[in-house]
Amino acid sequence: MRATRAVIDLNILINNLCAVRKHIGRGTSICLSVKADAYGHGAVAAAKTAEAAGINTFGIATAEEGAELRRAGIKGSILLYGFPVPEEIPLILKMKIGTFVGDEKLIDLFAAEAERQNTAAVVHLKVDTGMGRIGCIPEDMPVLAARISENKNLKLGGICTHFPASGSTDADFTREQIKIFKYWVNKTRESGITAGIIHAANSDALLSIPESYMDMVRPGLLCYGYYPSGSSPGTAEKVPVKPVMDFKTKVIFIKKVKAGTPVSYGMTYRTKDETVIATLPVGYGDGYNRLLSNRGKVLIRGRLYPIAGRICMDQCMVDLGVNNDVKLYDDVTLFGAGGNKGGVNAPDAAEIAEMTGTIPYEVTLRVSHRVPRVYVSMNKLKLSKPGGNGYADNRTCK
Ligand SMILES: *Cc1c(COP(=O)(O)O)cnc(C)c1O
Repeated sequence: MRATRAVIDLNILINNLCAVRKHIGRGTSICLSVKADAYGHGAVAAAKTAEAAGINTFGIATAEEGAELRRAGIKGSILLYGFPVPEEIPLILKMKIGTFVGDEKLIDLFAAEAERQNTAAVVHLKVDTGMGRIGCIPEDMPVLAARISENKNLKLGGICTHFPASGSTDADFTREQIKIFKYWVNKTRESGITAGIIHAANSDALLSIPESYMDMVRPGLLCYGYYPSGSSPGTAEKVPVKPVMDFKTKVIFIKKVKAGTPVSYGMTYRTKDETVIATLPVGYGDGYNRLLSNRGKVLIRGRLYPIAGRICMDQCMVDLGVNNDVKLYDDVTLFGAGGNKGGVNAPDAAEIAEMTGTIPYEVTLRVSHRVPRVYVSMNKLKLSKPGGNGYADNRTCK
């Protein structure tokens, strides 16, 4: 295997799910968001691990993502968080994927295809209470819910909404959304409709707004070990999660150079003094962002060293200085939990995000497909049966 790899610790994923479970208490099930290949961690491994821990619903963004989970043997509910185009509907139903809907047209398309396949399509009515993305206006909830529940080829699996505001910076906006949403859910129920699972919360709402929990929460980021930006102080103590992914490589070349030696494309870096330059077989083609040129830091043998010069597609350089104990083929951590006995940590994906003008979501999922995922699998966990009850339960969470 090549030196550059993403080490995914599935024990940490379980611990994070348990931290979420502890925070939200019982009574609310967890839908683990595994879209975009579980934010780069590997959707199949993440879903299988979570399923073994009792989680029974998985959130995805495309029909193909759902099909991949089914082909891998995931038995739980799979929920597509978007609106498909008509061509995707046959696969969605064949793979028994539940899907968001928000208008009559899409509802009717699902009904027609379900009839063709002689089945009942599970749909969740998506209501736009302030995200401004997909979903019907709240006032249309009862009539669309009725249209679904009256059709024998459709099953109203649930009703849901989504929050755009960070809980800590604009909790009032989110609370207002919740109020509107619940008002119309009640109206819908009053008209005799069985509304199914009521759900709304993402990681951010889950951390800061308990009223958002309802029947199910849909966290992603938090389960992979990161906090949404703008989380209030003390969040990390309240819900202690750790990064699941360590992005690593190895030193593949070391060379002593004179003062004034240029390093990499554009010669943007010139050594000030005699120094030692190490080359790493990782670049922006692997998802190590080019914006980290002359800015990033990597961890080798418990010490941080700066990236020297521009990051190339497949390689980059590090200035080790003359006093270092780095050896050829030493392990390098580019980002991750990076826990080290000496107390020095590698940057995490949140710090990389800060340096590259993005959010941790994008940092982990950008680790490209040519980077093998190496799984540290669950050890000695007493896991419940697959197809669980939506809980990372007591047997799993100590
Ligand atoms: C991605 C997504 C989530 C999960 O968001 P996190 O911020 O990662 O917790 C939940 N719901 C919907 C509709 C999403 O698209």
